[in-house]
Amino acid sequence: MITVRNLTHRYGDTVAVDDVSLTVEDGEFLVLVGANGSGKSTLVRQFNGLLEPDSGEVSVDGRAVHEDLVAARVAVGMVFQDPRDQLVAATVGADVAFGPENLGLSHAEIDRRVDAALSAVNLAGREDERVADFSGGERERVAIAGALAMEPTHLVLDEPFTGLDEPARRSVLDRLRALRADGTSVVVVTHDLRDLLSLSDRVVAMADGRVVVDGDPESASTRESLADLDVRVPPVDPC
Ligand code: ADP
Ligand code: MG
Repeated sequence: MITVRNLTHRYGDTVAVDDVSLTVEDGEFLVLVGANGSGKSTLVRQFNGLLEPDSGEVSVDGRAVHEDLVAARVAVGMVFQDPRDQLVAATVGADVAFGPENLGLSHAEIDRRVDAALSAVNLAGREDERVADFSGGERERVAIAGALAMEPTHLVLDEPFTGLDEPARRSVLDRLRALRADGTSVVVVTHDLRDLLSLSDRVVAMADGRVVVDGDPESASTRESLADLDVRVPPVDPC
């Protein structure tokens, strides 16, 4: 469980997140929407201590993030908006192994995790290929595999669909569906609710650093306010 209490974050004079309180339950699939600049990335980057709040507190599974950064990083996996911010090694296998290696796991366990994570994103057997030769969609999937290999109980993906073609988008959606079924908490930051509404338990919308909508997907998606927030909402949810 991720608990955010009265969190405020400023960059100079800009209040990016303004007194936000929010709880992400275990196993919950939460979609976080809002216009560019509404504070989504600034908020989720506090979930594992990548940013520190100016005031307020974040805890993961009951432990304050600032008191145990390592525990927070193990529990909360993060896939950044731009995979270039995340990919660290030249080859696919080395990149995905990087996180587990830093946990000090055995070679056998690292190999097992890398194999499982690459299979999960349909990149099995491509360990030795160079990340630099990959397309944007493939890089995004390597980034997701890197987060999965940490076997986090919570996974946060910041705009994972940006720049993906349709097959890559489908592949990421399939993976999110499987994670949901496995009971991993998933937070997806997006401004496009297509396909995600049927997966989500909850939709939270931000505007100007504040939470302005927080509800189940049916009622949230019918809010006219979402359209005002620049969120792409599907006209009718099939089935
Ligand atoms: P979103 O992810 O919803 O687009 P952000 O959290 O990136 O929103 O940004 C929230 C606000 O904080 C915006 O006004 C943005 O310009 C500002 N901001 C974000 N990152 C920085 C930064 N590193 N330095 C200064 N201002 C920033
Ligand atoms: Mg952002």
